[in-house]
Amino acid sequence: MENININQEQIIDTKSKKKVYNSTYYTKHKTKLLEKLKEKKTCTDCDKFISLSNFSRHKKTCKLKTIGDCPCASI
Ligand SMILES: [Zn+2]
Repeated sequence: MENININQEQIIDTKSKKKVYNSTYYTKHKTKLLEKLKEKKTCTDCDKFISLSNFSRHKKTCKLKTIGDCPCASI
């Protein structure tokens, strides 16, 4: 019985530690994370400069197209 109580306490402790770690991590790396959101990458298919947050979505619409044929290339 005592063991179970200790285990539960440990689990709760780990969870709250994780929570603290996550918020600390975010605060610590906030500028980096925000910079990463703004980061851009060149699409290999159409040479368009696309932000990383839109990149995976862009690839879905772009990967079957050839250079010059990509709709984003004309924008
Ligand atoms: Zn593209």
